[in-house]
Amino acid sequence: LGPTVCVGEILVEIVATTVGDGFLEAQPLVGPFASGAPAIFISQCGRLGGAAAMVGAVGDDDFGRVNIDRLKRDGVDVSTIAVHPDYPTGSAFVRYRKDGSRDFVYNIARSAAARFGWSPRVSDLINRTGHLHVMGSALSVPSAREVIDKAVDIVKARGGTLSVDPNIRKELQLDVETERRFLRLVAAADLLLPSGQELERAAGITGEANAIRRLFEIGVNEIVLKRGAEGATYFGRNGERIDAPAFLVEEVDPTGAGDCFGGAYLTCRRLGMSPDEALTYGSAAGARNVTVRGPMEGAGTRQELDAFIASTERLS
Ligand code: ATP
Repeated sequence: LGPTVCVGEILVEIVATTVGDGFLEAQPLVGPFASGAPAIFISQCGRLGGAAAMVGAVGDDDFGRVNIDRLKRDGVDVSTIAVHPDYPTGSAFVRYRKDGSRDFVYNIARSAAARFGWSPRVSDLINRTGHLHVMGSALSVPSAREVIDKAVDIVKARGGTLSVDPNIRKELQLDVETERRFLRLVAAADLLLPSGQELERAAGITGEANAIRRLFEIGVNEIVLKRGAEGATYFGRNGERIDAPAFLVEEVDPTGAGDCFGGAYLTCRRLGMSPDEALTYGSAAGARNVTVRGPMEGAGTRQELDAFIASTERLS
């Protein structure tokens, strides 16, 4: 039915190498790394050999080239990434706190990441897209909303499928309009990839079992709940449940785990694997990615993930 397409923000990320309590102190940094949750997701799809394309924008600058070169190397079709002549590539600074949480400082609103739109090239791609993946974070970007709305309608009308990762960070609070769009998107999703509280938020009801039931009632087909170092759980609409234990790794940088997990799970499902097999690859992709600093530096090829699976113990 055509490639997997992801629409949304493309950024560079610059990451603190020390753990502290705030942004106001000077600290050693490392980067720039190619990033943006949608870009990480599609990078992992491409690395696993799935047909993949990205819709978004970068500036005509070195940070933009970091992203385009990286996605190209991963096998992603970058012809629908616009290069904006007047706005710089978006960026984010990430800082880790002692309690294990992360702070992000985003520079997206005034960047090229927030300035792309529907174009004949995007239209041509979406009209041959087999699967569309949307991150909730992209809904906070006005220009992305219009593309996502159109793309969802076209892809679903031609029999394609939709996956949604709520990806709602506390720094990206949803206004009423964005929340409404988010819930509409969830209702159109075939596959939902929430983590933590996002499950209940997407369902609009409290309690894991209630949320799962509600999401199947509104039409979702498959739910995979990500639980960080605790693993992940698949829920099928006929009551199936598969718990995937996490691989035992030393976490160096948690950023991007969920996106790599999602990209690998989705690609494996699209390549015809069972939920169980796809969960194994998703879990391996997420775990492998946290062992390396940088949001997508640990995204693996099929060969790399097979080697990782063969050599890494799992939680029992
Ligand atoms: P992010 O928003 O940072 O991309 P997320 O909250 O969407 O992450 P996580 O639950 O953190 O997603 O990670 C996705 C999957 O990756 C987990 O379900 C797990 O399989 C794997 N994973 C993440 N962190 C670890 C870890 N520390 N050790 C082993 N596996 C991990």
